[in-house]
Amino acid sequence: MVNTLAYLSLSEQLKNQNVTLVAVSKLKPAADIKTLYDLGQRDFGENYVQELLEKTGALPEDIRWHFIGHLQSNKVKYIAPFVHLIHGVDSLKLLLEINKQGKKSGRVIDCLLQVHIATEETKFGFDNTELFQFGAYYETNKAELAHVRIRGMMGMASFSEDESQVRKEFNALKQTFEVHKSGTFLFEQSFDTLSMGMSGDYEMAIAKGSNMVRIGSLLFGRRG
Ligand SMILES: *Cc1c(COP(=O)(O)O)cnc(C)c1O
Repeated sequence: MVNTLAYLSLSEQLKNQNVTLVAVSKLKPAADIKTLYDLGQRDFGENYVQELLEKTGALPEDIRWHFIGHLQSNKVKYIAPFVHLIHGVDSLKLLLEINKQGKKSGRVIDCLLQVHIATEETKFGFDNTELFQFGAYYETNKAELAHVRIRGMMGMASFSEDESQVRKEFNALKQTFEVHKSGTFLFEQSFDTLSMGMSGDYEMAIAKGSNMVRIGSLLFGRRG
């Protein structure tokens, strides 16, 4: 069930803090998305390409769809024509494919670099060394990368009860973000988005400098 009261107070709070709310609707029906849409929500996050395609057909065209899941290169072509922001760019191969498909669609596709900050090995993302290698490649090959725009970074903290661990991880991501924002590799002026924080840890993420949170279960109830 959609928790409209939670939505109204959360969206008000985040607006005052200049934090963008991405409502994570994976595994939830289009009708639930429409409920929040009717209350004014426009940014929605999905994790699975097939599911996203089914939903876009059934919902208003002015929704800004965020792809927040692990994206396989061979599926980029399906979402390239309309996706608003891809949060999980975790390899050069994926970025090159997004650029290629962006070109085909006549678009510049906004992307976030996913950074590995958690203790779990299973989570995706660049480590610090890879980020510097990536940045060096990007800077050298910028002219060929005209159909992607690196807007910032995304990270997921450890799934942990240990608040000090989670805080440490958010801190680390914020620092990494600032290092790259301040121009190490000449990412665009538009390098301005730090996507961190979910239902369980968004307040801490905002305190640590997040300006985009991805919230699912708090709004739509538990999944599955
Ligand atoms: C599912 C998901 C979320 C939302 O998680 P909740 O705990 O339900 O808020 C946020 N980010 C990513 C990458 C997700 O996969």
